[in-house]
Amino acid sequence: MDLDVRELLADTIKRYLDRYCEENGLERIWGEPPVAFADARSPLFQELRTVVHPEHLMPEDILPGATIVVSYYIPYDRELAKGNISGNTASTEWAFAYALTFSIIDDLADTVATDVRALDFEAELPTPEQYDRIPGDIVSRWSQRHVAYIAGLGTFGKNNMLITDRGCCGRFYSIVTNLDVEPDRPVEGERCLFKIDGSCGACMRKCRSGAITPGGFDRWACDRHGDASRETYNGLYACGKCIVGMPCSFRDPSV
Ligand code: SF4
Ligand code: SF4
Repeated sequence: MDLDVRELLADTIKRYLDRYCEENGLERIWGEPPVAFADARSPLFQELRTVVHPEHLMPEDILPGATIVVSYYIPYDRELAKGNISGNTASTEWAFAYALTFSIIDDLADTVATDVRALDFEAELPTPEQYDRIPGDIVSRWSQRHVAYIAGLGTFGKNNMLITDRGCCGRFYSIVTNLDVEPDRPVEGERCLFKIDGSCGACMRKCRSGAITPGGFDRWACDRHGDASRETYNGLYACGKCIVGMPCSFRDPSV
């Protein structure tokens, strides 16, 4: 039953993305989406109020009676990522794909939620106000990457992205449900080579803003680097240099 629900939702996401490209005459933009189930009652959600923001939401805030948060990862296509390796600012194709992904993400989630409701369970989406940045701040009250971590999709790399089985070059999203399935567990150990033994560090060398250092990740430095992009791409901040051309871009580099 669990495997069937997971497969059903992964298939829905894949078909939605494939259909979008086909109907709009676009080259392939996204790869295969893995899906995982976070335990909505995990104490790790409470910890996000310390790790991310004191007002981080609990699954119950989005859906009373929540049991499972369905988290999924939408990887970008490898060829698209290759095109963003060089240069100081995002390639035009990368910026387009980044903006496009953002523009469809709520509709896609609604489609996934419809599937869950068709199984006679409830499903609610976090709103953009919940998962977008808090005004004046640089974090959100529903961190998709941290939810994905709790769901067992991967572990954090030095580049502050979650390294999944299929790498870190993509986006995360989630919906809150009362599905009756076994939750997945967070991945044990580390996948980032720098965190494992101090090797790699490719994302640090590649970062255009000095945001990634051995000591941590400076979100504000990363954000300031976005000014050039915002000027070029009509207010859009796209960079992604630290997630393309990396040993962790499309795979778990620890195996
Ligand atoms: S590029 Fe290397 S150091 Fe950076 S997150 Fe990936 S594995 Fe870790
Ligand atoms: S998005 Fe760009 S500026 Fe921000 S950490 Fe990655 S490479 Fe550095």
